Amino acid sequence: MIENILNKDAFTSEDIVTLLSAEGTEKQLLFAKSAAVKEQHVQKKVYFRGLIEFSNICRKDCLYCGIRKSNTTVNRYNVSDKEILEAVDFALKSKFASVVLQSGELENTAFVDRVENLLQKISEQTEGKIRVTLSLGEQTEETYKRWFNAGAQRFLLRIETSNADLYKKLHPNDSLHSFEQRLNCIRTLKSIGYQTGTGVMIGLPFQTTEDLANDLLFFKERGIDMIGMGPYIEHEDTPLYEFRDQLLPLKERFELSLKMIAVLRIMMKNINIAATTALQAIDKMGREKALKIGANVIMPNITPGIYRNNYLLYQNKPCTDENADDCSQCLEARVQMSGDEVAWDEWGDSKHFLERRD
Ligand code: SAH
Ligand code: SF4
Repeated sequence: MIENILNKDAFTSEDIVTLLSAEGTEKQLLFAKSAAVKEQHVQKKVYFRGLIEFSNICRKDCLYCGIRKSNTTVNRYNVSDKEILEAVDFALKSKFASVVLQSGELENTAFVDRVENLLQKISEQTEGKIRVTLSLGEQTEETYKRWFNAGAQRFLLRIETSNADLYKKLHPNDSLHSFEQRLNCIRTLKSIGYQTGTGVMIGLPFQTTEDLANDLLFFKERGIDMIGMGPYIEHEDTPLYEFRDQLLPLKERFELSLKMIAVLRIMMKNINIAATTALQAIDKMGREKALKIGANVIMPNITPGIYRNNYLLYQNKPCTDENADDCSQCLEARVQMSGDEVAWDEWGDSKHFLERRD
């Protein structure tokens, strides 16, 4: 039965639900197919993006997130421009060719100016040799344009869930946390010319397998270039923690995330898919397992070590006490163990983006 679905050109929501429920031999068939699609369309190559979590100060209160504004137990920090530029330099020297700047969401003029200035400095310092992805939340069209013109080529803004009702259950009910606004932002990013990335959390309270199937169809309909999705991991200092008893066991959330990646790879053959850190939080080899069945991007954390323990979106986050060097040294061997090669010094732009632009 699974074979018939896997041979189709396009999946219905029902097909996807069946695939996401696959176990045993059927699951192996799914993974074999997604691995073959990966090899054929994006090759067995992995691109590294140095992740710099430069501030945990956030104006929002997403009910799942450990660094939400109302969590007063968090030590708030801001990595200095100098340290950010040093981390970018480290990425370049380590042949990563791409960095991701991520932080809590702020929208004030000082923040917007600061990021614009940083982007210009990064471009000068690296002579345009490094690709910059931003993951800085919802902003005005003008801000997105300014950052694009200052040198950012990619943007990650997860929709978190494509089900508007579920989205409302995961966020405070106010204008700062509007599903429609988030959708608009994704549309705007694409129209400006960014390589546009989004994603969802997997295994959220109240989320059904149909919701997840619709998430994958949403990515396809919107013509997204890059996806980062991973398991939801509860954090005890958040309101959503109350529903922890309703969650799938961590191991099942992990397996479901792998299946989501595999099905997505079959549906969207030439996009970039990240093996996210949350996978590694559940299984030490989680990211490598994801590479094997379809993912092709890893984001090693290169945030200066002293800040790392304070960017805890969820609990048991890995690598919070390591130096960037330690992380990158072992990574290549781990990637090779999964049968892939690291594409050193390559930008690894999303093929989906390059083809739609041409
Ligand atoms: N503030 C920005 C970027 C930082 S948050 C933004 O929200 O877009 C980056 C991502 O972390 C979010 O999109 C969310 O999907 C993920 N995240 C937050 N809390 C999480 C949790 N408890 N478990 C798993 N992922 C989480
Ligand atoms: Fe802030 Fe992003 Fe966390 Fe929401 S998910 S509280 S916007 S850091």
